Amino acid sequence: MTPLVIAIDGPAAAGKGTLARRIAAHLGLPYLDTGLLYRAVGRRVLDRGADPRDAAIAEAEARALDPADLDRPDLRGPQADHAASAVAAIPAVRAALLEFQRSFGRARGAVLDGRDIGTVVFPEAAVKLFVTASPEERARRRFLELRGRGIAADPDQVLAEIRDRDAQDANRPVAPLKPAPDAIVIDTTALDADAAFAVALAEIGQRLAGR
Ligand code: C5P
Repeated sequence: MTPLVIAIDGPAAAGKGTLARRIAAHLGLPYLDTGLLYRAVGRRVLDRGADPRDAAIAEAEARALDPADLDRPDLRGPQADHAASAVAAIPAVRAALLEFQRSFGRARGAVLDGRDIGTVVFPEAAVKLFVTASPEERARRRFLELRGRGIAADPDQVLAEIRDRDAQDANRPVAPLKPAPDAIVIDTTALDADAAFAVALAEIGQRLAGR
């Protein structure tokens, strides 16, 4: 039997990481946060003092990516967000990261979260969830998360950055953020983490029963 792959896509701060981690633990599957790959590439480009929109440098850094880069402590925060989104719009960067993601999922099955898992990386995934929430609610969560980590932030600016990143991720020509036609959309605007987990498990159970 092919290993079970669960694809979880959606915009920034919709709760997909928390949800994906819980689903993976519940089902005993490995978990990959694919956003970290783009974040790590963005960081490597910044380390070189280069512009994350520089396609040649970003591709070289994507090809040189070391799994240890995913453990760097500086992959979160506005600068890393911005660099990740910029390198993610470069087709050669996406191509360089594709095989890593596919091998990860094929080895033992996996839960992967990102923007294009159900549309590009694993279009054949057994279950695809698209987790979303209103921009205002996502900005509120991101603001609280930043505050929890002791990072001062302005709520209006956090919302503006969320909207910018949504636009950049949804409007890029390659692998834009959008639900796969067969994805189950879960809107978490009015759901806490436990409620979102319950909804997701019920949906996954139904999809797997119909396999
Ligand atoms: O999920 P996260 O917010 O950590 O992702 C950071 C950035 O990486 C996103 O804004 C997006 O541009 C990019 N990304 C992507 N495809 C993925 C995962 C992340 O383009 N599968």
